[in-house]
Amino acid sequence: MAKKKGSSNKKGKRAHKNNPTSKKYALYTIEGNSIKKKSKHCPRCGPGVFLGGGQSRLHCGRCHYTEFMKA
Ligand SMILES: [Zn+2]
Repeated sequence: MAKKKGSSNKKGKRAHKNNPTSKKYALYTIEGNSIKKKSKHCPRCGPGVFLGGGQSRLHCGRCHYTEFMKA
């Protein structure tokens, strides 16, 4: 078996990949002198950790807190 070149090889150095940033800044909007937040924060993790949206629930990617919205 010949060794494959590239990122498929798990051992050793891997090629650097430019991943997209979290774009947390897009969730904030500045109005006058106050900063407004567009989505909810996680009650467990506190401010700065946003809840991600599902179809009918809000989920925290950090502590896996989930909030279910009423149908
Ligand atoms: Zn959390």
